[in-house]
Formats: sequence, structure tokens, C-alpha cells
Amino acid sequence: MDRRDFLKSALVLAALAPLTRLAGKEGADGDKSSDLAKGGQVARRRYKNTQLTLPLLGYGMMRLPRVKGRGQEIDLVETERLFRAALEAGVNYFDTAYFYHGGLSEKCVAEVLGKFPRDSYYLADKLPVRSLRREEDVERIWNEQLKKCNVEYFDFYLLHNLNRDRWEDVKRFKALEFLKKMKAEGKIRHLGFSFHDGPNVLKEIIPAYPWDFAQIQLNYLDWTLYRSKEQYEILTRLGIPVVVMEPLRGGALANLNDAATRIFKAAAPEASVASWAFRYAGSLPNVICVLSGMTKMEHLQDNIRTFTDFKPLTDQERATIEAALAAYRSTGAIPCTACRYCTPCPVGVDIPRIFGLYNHYKVTGNYMQFRMIYDKLTEDERASACIGCGTCLKKCPQKIDIPAELKKIDAELKQPPRRAPRRRALLWSPDAEEFA
Ligand code: SF4
Ligand code: SF4
Repeated sequence: MDRRDFLKSALVLAALAPLTRLAGKEGADGDKSSDLAKGGQVARRRYKNTQLTLPLLGYGMMRLPRVKGRGQEIDLVETERLFRAALEAGVNYFDTAYFYHGGLSEKCVAEVLGKFPRDSYYLADKLPVRSLRREEDVERIWNEQLKKCNVEYFDFYLLHNLNRDRWEDVKRFKALEFLKKMKAEGKIRHLGFSFHDGPNVLKEIIPAYPWDFAQIQLNYLDWTLYRSKEQYEILTRLGIPVVVMEPLRGGALANLNDAATRIFKAAAPEASVASWAFRYAGSLPNVICVLSGMTKMEHLQDNIRTFTDFKPLTDQERATIEAALAAYRSTGAIPCTACRYCTPCPVGVDIPRIFGLYNHYKVTGNYMQFRMIYDKLTEDERASACIGCGTCLKKCPQKIDIPAELKKIDAELKQPPRRAPRRRALLWSPDAEEFA
């Protein structure tokens, strides 16, 4: 290192020193309360009976800001601005995965999080079980992940997206045996799994290992629809802490229809619609962290407001959510979370894009806007190109009948509604910039 580099490093380290102190890392946190909120910082939850506390708001690295017109490429400058603001507010749990941003999310760990001291944040990564073809793949992918993230250990590591079939693959390829070894070597601090199936499959997975945590899809829509309630209760009964994913269902619960939005605004004019969903997840006592894929600074700031001096829902507020949910269900929106697991389609149909546009139309009633953007898709990307091969069906964790929904959308496009279009801005979505 030459003198210039040395001075630069010294300056960077000096600038980041306060973040290290803010981090609330294991052993450095003297506060013994279960929900602690230091001034201007998000609330933290204690991990079991240890000194470790996690921020109730975690940063999901699946929907980072993108460089316009460059596919999944991440805008690293904006991401660093977001991460810095998050860390300053105590949001120091970051959740990445092998597939996020087409593999670029893990590289972003090295490129952006790598600028911050390693002990100022917790890093969660996941083994892509669906990519395993043979036993050797487990170690190969593990090494690739360490290298891409440029780290020596993961604070939290998960078997990604388990369901009945993938659990069979975990056993067949001895993935759990390998991860247990990594944990024994200190390269994994907490071992868990993320889950997309029914309670019966969950009951089969749990006895295989004393899991440190589990990540489940949980929000007020999925509580009964996706049987999140049963999953949460099973995990809680067995003392397994829960990390929540999809608290907004891919942004859908921040962009409700007018009737549902009016109900929330009447109850709390200052609160964002999204904040209701975050408070719903955070109000559950066995939840240790609620992940949010924050694309914009306004998302982060709104979430920081929600989770600073965090207030669990009252009974009256729960009744408000029930009323808004009933109003939302009437829109007929497709329960797609924009996870993109169904891609690529062999003929090129852009499934998540079509569902996102369609849902926006269903929620806002703005057919002209839907049509204008939809018509920009190529012939191969459109719903009409689907040949019904079914490849996407088994990949969708929401169990959406994708070919049937595409057929329905195509039919609707051929018979446009007569009603005059209404205009309402979309406030929170991976595609928000298109509607601004
Ligand atoms: S069923 Fe349709 S959308 Fe799904 S993979 Fe096949 S062609 Fe693509
Ligand atoms: S259709 Fe299913 S797999 Fe595809 S993006 Fe939506 S939720 Fe994800």
C-alpha cells in the first residue's frame, strides 16, 4: 500500500468508526430489554437469551436501485447512500442471495457493504438449493459465495426457498451435512432456512436440525391465504425465531386500491399504507427481523420512522387492517410477489412484468396506462406468447397458475373495458419509476 492509499484508508476508517459503535453487535450491547430503541435508531429484538440483538427492520438486497436500461445492474452509488443511511439508523442486517439481481446482489456485498467494517453489520446469504445437481455443487457454490461477497463468514446462512421437492434435494446432496461443518468451523454463525410450502412440509423439515432461525413469508394478506399463521405458530411453539420476508408482498400492500387506502388514511392520516404492513409483521413477538427490499431513500426513511419507537398494533388497528383487506381482495389482483423465480421462460414471456403491470391496472383502474406500457413489450415477452409448457409452474412459490392467468390477461387485452380510465400514482413498486 502506498502512502496515498494508506491515508485514504485511514480517512475511511475514521469516517466509519461511529457506525461500528452504532452497530449493536454481539457482546457490545448492554441493554437488556426485549424491544430496545436507542435515540433515533430502529427498535432491536434480542436473539433468544443471548447478548445478540437484531434490528427489527432488515435490508433485503433483492430490489436494490438499478441502473436505468441495464437490466439487473445495481446502481452502486445510490446503494451506498442507502446503506449508509440504514446503518446510521441501526439497520444493520443485510439479506442477500445467490439469485438476487441475477447474481449481482452478492457482488454488491463486496462492492458496497465491503466499504464498512465487517463487524458493523450482519450478513445473511442463502444456498440456492434449486441449482444443486450433484453433491460437489454445495461446496463449489459456497466457495463462490464467500468469494463474491469477499467475506470469511456469514452471520446468518439459509437453505434457500425450501419446499417438499427442494428438501429432498437437500437430503440427496447432503447439503445440511456440509453446512453443519461450516458452522462448526465458525464460517456460519446462525443456520436456518427460508420456506415456501405448507405447514406439513415445515413439520418434516424442523426435526432435521436444531435450526437457529427460519425465514417465512408473512403479511396480513398471507396470514390465512398462504397459511403464514400456522407456520408462525409452529416455529414459535418450537422456539425457532422468525425472520419475515415479503411483508409488503412484493410492494402490493403499499399500493392498495382506493377503497382500502381510504380506510387506512381515515384511521391514521399521517401513516403510510406500507407502515401498516410493517407494523403487522413487527407486532409478532417471535419475529426478530422484518426484511424490506428498499429501492428508494423515501422507502428507507418511511420504514425507519415506522420502526423507530416501534408501536405494536392495537386491537382497533387490527380491525382497521381487516376492513382494508376486505376492500383490497375485491380488486382481483394476482398474488405475484415479483420474486422472478419463474424466469426465464423458454419462449421469453416476461411473467413478473406482465403481472406487475396488470396488478397496477387492477388496483388503480387505469387501463390506458397499463396498455401504454404493455404495448412496449416485444411479441415474445407478451402474455399471448405463452405456449402453456408449464415450466414456470413448479418454480412459483406462490403456486400461481401462471399460464391460466396469462391467458386471462390476454383475453382482457383483446376486450378493453369501456369505462373511462382513472389516474392514481403508484407509490411503491420495483416499477414505480415507470408510473411517476
Ligand atoms: S407456461 Fe407459458 S409462461 Fe410458463 S414457461 Fe411455459 S411458455 Fe413461459
Ligand atoms: S409468478 Fe410466481 S415465481 Fe413468478 S414472479 Fe410472480 S410470484 Fe414469483
